[in-house]
Amino acid sequence: MRVSVDREKCMGCGVCESICPEVFQMGEDNIAKVLQDPVPESLEDTAREAAQSCPEEAIRVEE
Ligand code: SF4
Repeated sequence: MRVSVDREKCMGCGVCESICPEVFQMGEDNIAKVLQDPVPESLEDTAREAAQSCPEEAIRVEE
């Protein structure tokens, strides 16, 4: 599974990082960045949950 953050849509709320810090981290510019792509299988469910919880739908998931 692959994930990416749309930098135009991200508004820096930090929800993705709080749900799945192994994969998402807030950058210095306050936009989320992806730490592990492809996402390790053990983190797929949590990363998917983070994507679904993003209020801006800024996280794209490719299964
Ligand atoms: Fe950005 Fe969405 Fe993460 Fe919030 S949850 S920091 S809007 S990618």
